[in-house]
Amino acid sequence: MKKSRKSPATETRVEEIAGHIPGVPVQTGQTVELDIAGLTTEAEGVGRVEGYTLFVAGALPGDRVRARVTQIGKSYGRAVLLDIVRPSPDRRAAPCPLHDACGGCQLQHWSYGAQLRWKRQHVIDNLKRIGRLRVANGFQGETAQPDSAADHPPVIVHPTMGMADPWRYRNKAQVPIGPGAGGLAGGFFEPGTHRIVDLNACLIQHGENEELIRAVKAAARSLGLSAYNRKTGRGLLRHVVVRHARATGQRMVVLVTNGRDIPHAAELVGLIRELVPGVTSICQNVNTARTPVVFGEETRVLWGEEVIYDEIGGIRFAISPRSFFQVNTEQTETLYRKAAQYAGLTGEETVIDVYCGIGTISLFLARLARKVYGVEIVPEAVEDARRNALLNGMRNVEFTAGRAEEVLPRWQAAGLRADVLVVDPPRKGCDPAVLRAMLDMRPRRIVYVSCNPSTLARDLRVLEDGGYRAVEVQPVDMFPHTTHVECCVLLVRK
Ligand code: SAH
Repeated sequence: MKKSRKSPATETRVEEIAGHIPGVPVQTGQTVELDIAGLTTEAEGVGRVEGYTLFVAGALPGDRVRARVTQIGKSYGRAVLLDIVRPSPDRRAAPCPLHDACGGCQLQHWSYGAQLRWKRQHVIDNLKRIGRLRVANGFQGETAQPDSAADHPPVIVHPTMGMADPWRYRNKAQVPIGPGAGGLAGGFFEPGTHRIVDLNACLIQHGENEELIRAVKAAARSLGLSAYNRKTGRGLLRHVVVRHARATGQRMVVLVTNGRDIPHAAELVGLIRELVPGVTSICQNVNTARTPVVFGEETRVLWGEEVIYDEIGGIRFAISPRSFFQVNTEQTETLYRKAAQYAGLTGEETVIDVYCGIGTISLFLARLARKVYGVEIVPEAVEDARRNALLNGMRNVEFTAGRAEEVLPRWQAAGLRADVLVVDPPRKGCDPAVLRAMLDMRPRRIVYVSCNPSTLARDLRVLEDGGYRAVEVQPVDMFPHTTHVECCVLLVRK
């Protein structure tokens, strides 16, 4: 569920750049007019000229555009958008003035309904093409039958669950700081450079985070704090990370600095508190490494609490400066409720949660199960998971730090069995050894939570061939205005 720009669509790189290729109906430099029919996960419009595929950045499905061909390969090419001859009825003016430059959102210029429909279709296309699954046609009012193993009905892909208000959903902002007007700028990197564009408003960010970032920048400027220069490795302030807890309203700011000493540290803390009286935690993280990695090893509290608390579905989580926590709290709850529904727990079951992170799904399900085992590779996340179990007085959960591809086969060999197995892997999907151990464990149900439809489809094929049936898929929109789509899938043993 990590945010990453890498996606299967990068395979659409053009292999050959040439003015003219025999058999290809367009040449570089040529202006063409075409209808856009599809959209890649890189948010490029896809259209055809005489059957030849062209990718056009900035174009949307339903648009008719004029574009200039810039690259051609044997099977597809790229063109730059010149103008829109006839806009798609779903095209909108992007509300954010920096939409094109920033690139944090790719789809603000598309109606939210069209985004949600595309996300569902994108999942279906992957399931069919990569997973070779049969997908049910209709989608309104269909009900899945998880326990009818006799025949093999097609998998149902439900309409994407969107947000009632798809703005201001992010609970965390991580803002790079660099030299700029008034001493420092904080915002986003100008694409392909080290230069930072100063940004004071972000429509997908919680309003209180925006306010906190503005306050920290103003305080740092007024005290003459230096900004980190990525070319020279000098200067102090590298990143400002802010978090807002939806359930408690608590607010954290983390100053990531290139060195331990902050000149006028007490004044800085005082100023931030004065500008934002609601802040509950001010921390410092020291990072002197000359890499793009945000955090360093050492973290300390400058003022207030060392954690903030938030809740998902009535479960409390302590969030420390470096903890992973889902950025869209509201939709995370939607997704995990679906996972809980698919798990179909009665209180008697043993559940294994693979790739469990800080134990969000584990704890969510522990209330409904006899016992939950979680496995996760990042030791700090496992510590958070254990702390969160204690915080919620849950004793029926056990977390193990390790590689899923090693731990799960070990558990299976030792005779551990699960009634329900949950996986929530990173973008690359499940390791083959994890899939094998899952099949060997023969759980009654598998709940697969995925942030990448293509690796999901690949893994579903393995599970189908191994004796499971994909029953239903619920796409959930965790990241409105981006091409990311999250899915929750129910599989049952045939
Ligand atoms: N379900 C969790 C997080 C899922 S994100 C939550 O909602 O909080 C995927 C998780 O898989 C990350 O926490 C990542 O650290 C972990 N991970 C990545 N590779 C892994 C591996 N080989 N073995 C175990 N965990 C891994």
